[in-house]
Amino acid sequence: TEKIRIGIAGYGNLGRGVESAIYQNEDMELKGVFTRRNPGDVNLINESVPVYALNRIEDFKEKIDVLILCGGSKNDLPEQGPMLAEHFTTIDSFDTHADIPKHFDAVDKVAKPNKKTAIISVGWDPGLFSMNRLFGESVLAEGTTYTFWGKGLSQGHSDAVRRVPGVKGAVQYTIPNPEAVEQVRSGSLPELTTREQHTRECYVVLEEGADAKEVEQAIVTMPNYFTNHDTTVHFISEEELKRDHAAMPHGGFVIRSGKTGEGNNQVIEYALKLESNPEFTASVLVAYARAAFRLNQNGDYGAKTVFDVAPGLLSPKSAATLRKELL
Ligand code: NAP
Repeated sequence: TEKIRIGIAGYGNLGRGVESAIYQNEDMELKGVFTRRNPGDVNLINESVPVYALNRIEDFKEKIDVLILCGGSKNDLPEQGPMLAEHFTTIDSFDTHADIPKHFDAVDKVAKPNKKTAIISVGWDPGLFSMNRLFGESVLAEGTTYTFWGKGLSQGHSDAVRRVPGVKGAVQYTIPNPEAVEQVRSGSLPELTTREQHTRECYVVLEEGADAKEVEQAIVTMPNYFTNHDTTVHFISEEELKRDHAAMPHGGFVIRSGKTGEGNNQVIEYALKLESNPEFTASVLVAYARAAFRLNQNGDYGAKTVFDVAPGLLSPKSAATLRKELL
């Protein structure tokens, strides 16, 4: 059978992760990477895959089955999502939770009339975590759903710390509070404040002459980002930042705790421990690219989210094989 022809739009951490995930899936082939930068400046894992300028992408309408969008959620995807869903069946990992309904509408409006399928907000959160929240609350009608993130590097919070005057480099880790996690696992249905659920830890390299006390103060009092959490700031050298904080680990848990019958406790837990957040997210995107291809072939057009995609469509195995082997 023919392979599913994949394109990658945008080549950062996630784009590179998608490239490497495609090589692990035999039913797919990577036709090309599209970038806003000079294609000659973008180095792929496999040098024989061509890199093209993004503004030439319309020439590839008939050569690509699914385009995986790997731009940033903040500035790239709100623009590229609707623009590219006009010409391609797409997958994106849009993760600004509050703006998902707006992004969905913008993509749906162009995808549907052009007979394209666009699965938005794929990844682990939003994505696999969202599905586990849905399973939890659908199955345990009476209960509470908890999401813990970390220990993990938060890109948004790291960027915010880097913008503080006097900061030369920084990373921020989000850490679940172990006592809160234990309480939730016990089935006691605790009511937890934001502060009780997670702590934040920053590793900061100071600019020369910067005042550590002032920088620390500016970080821990930053509205939205840090005021609702207990935050620890560690000052380290540039070498330590490079040596000890270059990886992008992440993960977390979704826990649904509820009661059934005469008050029997039931606890569902889904956990991820990720050494590389972008490589894992990319692996999810690639599985959903297979589903998008199949939905499109079946004439199911428009914007979708993970809630709309039947899980069997993610697998390279046929429905009959899945019934035999996994059910
Ligand atoms: P990134 O590395 O900053 O890449 C974003 C875009 O920036 C790339 O597509 C690329 O576009 C451009 N770029 C990359 N490296 C560059 C460089 N050296 N110089 C200039 N431009 C460069 O971001 P990322 O880590 O791949 O993350 C992308 C998005 O994934 C995030 O915004 C986040 O929303 C999302 N995400 C979602 C989940 C989830 O669970 N749903 C999890 C993790 C991440 P061009 O090639 O066109 O220049």
